[in-house]
Amino acid sequence: MTTPKSPNRRRLISGAVGMALTPVAPAFGKAIPTHDVIVVGAGLSGLHAATLLEENGMNVQTLEGRSRIGGRVYTLMDIPGKPEAAGELIGGNYARMIQAAKNMNLELVEPDQLGSGRKWYFRIQGQDIRAEDWPTHELNPLTGKDRKMMPSRYLWELSHRDNPLSDQPLDAWIRPEFAKYDIPQSEYLRKYLGYNDETIRLMNTVVHTDHLDNTSALHELRRYAVGEFNRRVASARNDSPQALQVKGGNSRLPYAMADSLENGVLTSKTVYAFEDRGSEVITHCADGTRYRSRKVVCSMPYPVMKDVKFYPRLPARMESAIDEIDYGISIQVHYLLKRNFWEEDGMPANIWSDSEFERFAVLARGENGAPSSAIAFINGNEAYKYNFMTDRQVMDYTTARLIEARPAIKGAIEPVLVQSCHRDVHGAGDWVFWRPGQVTKYAAHMRDAHGNIEFCGEHTALLERGMEGAFESGERAAISVLSAS
Ligand SMILES: Cc1cc2nc3c(=O)[nH]c(=O)nc-3n(C[C@H](O)[C@H](O)[C@H](O)COP(=O)(O)OP(=O)(O)OC[C@H]3O[C@@H](n4cnc5c(N)ncnc54)[C@H](O)[C@@H]3O)c2cc1C
Repeated sequence: MTTPKSPNRRRLISGAVGMALTPVAPAFGKAIPTHDVIVVGAGLSGLHAATLLEENGMNVQTLEGRSRIGGRVYTLMDIPGKPEAAGELIGGNYARMIQAAKNMNLELVEPDQLGSGRKWYFRIQGQDIRAEDWPTHELNPLTGKDRKMMPSRYLWELSHRDNPLSDQPLDAWIRPEFAKYDIPQSEYLRKYLGYNDETIRLMNTVVHTDHLDNTSALHELRRYAVGEFNRRVASARNDSPQALQVKGGNSRLPYAMADSLENGVLTSKTVYAFEDRGSEVITHCADGTRYRSRKVVCSMPYPVMKDVKFYPRLPARMESAIDEIDYGISIQVHYLLKRNFWEEDGMPANIWSDSEFERFAVLARGENGAPSSAIAFINGNEAYKYNFMTDRQVMDYTTARLIEARPAIKGAIEPVLVQSCHRDVHGAGDWVFWRPGQVTKYAAHMRDAHGNIEFCGEHTALLERGMEGAFESGERAAISVLSAS
């Protein structure tokens, strides 16, 4: 499990790395394998960079810290219906990713989205409310036509209204003219859109950041502008649905990409230091192995890089970016389904709630859309308290809250797995997010190289986000390496 780390810890060790590491010079030429490029991380960004570099004649070795491939693409192959535990929806316009799947002869299909039959009810302030009752319900904080909007849509629909980034180029979010929106999202919602506190509280229920007070409005505005762009592009193409998944599980794509690489991917190779000696870089792994290359492409998420040593030391701005920039977190409890409990109490199978479990959904990934498993999916601010629990405690706690809310669930589900990228030492969280002020401070510099080390990863993407952002970033890093050769 990832534990919070002192920002100063890396500072203390990074300055001393040259002295602390075993001298490498005597071993050159025999013990250390040599490559044109070392790619660190076998998530989508690293794999795409490695593929492009190899296609352009480079000798590339990819090192992956985990024992599996794919990073934040992770299909749970052992759970009925093979749920996606991370990168789930491939936008219909994800051109690079769709092409990569085609290159690997993988079929893309329309996804089974969260929630069997997509029927939900809402549990708000302890009251169970059917969708059809929400427009006239006393707890509905909106007025006029907006009262028809379901609370689960508030964050997206209401934040995106009058979005200043709509119809702007996708990189507009880093332009100085939009810096005035680099303020807390909750402040933006009050000041620019005039929403009341209860509306903002409900918007803050399932967030992909931390809390709307700690999220830059610019981050959220970018999110919706990119989403809108993606939807428009997908709609304009008659041959492609809005969203896709890899048939048999999204993880099949990174595995296929890894298999197609000349040198494959070496797993369980956690990199803890880079020594850039000018003409070459030595990459140090925690198992004692070292790799020599002319260039490195590093795809580690920032929170992981807090513990990685760079020699020479990273520029001050990058060090503080690594210290400060955070990832939205989530935690999922996966359940086997023993009984169709919703047939017993007559309520829709799925619950969207402002209580501890946030979203509980029955997945319909079985044969012909049959119910396959269930998931409690907690995002953002509400997810932090689980940092203090073991997996067993998370399962017990979540299950108890679900039974309290819905007695028919008792004995109908069995918890089998807790999954959270945040709980993994190689993870960090779900997606990068920007706190107020951080876009202005850091966003234009995320793509800067450090000597012979290029950085990629979804967090460095300028145009797209998520999985396509990962591909975009891998492409940019590969082009930088190739143009310097
Ligand atoms: C729950 C969840 C839902 C999501 N849903 C969607 C979605 O629907 N659509 C979408 O587009 N995106 C989604 N995303 C985001 C998407 O999955 C990521 O943006 C994308 O996969 C990131 O790819 P990456 O290559 O940048 O990073 P990663 O996949 O994190 O790759 C980095 C790799 O580096 C490795 N690594 C880390 N540290 C070290 C080290 N020290 N040494 C060696 N290796 C190391 C990691 O193990 C990892 O494999 C979701 C993510 C999550 C978690």
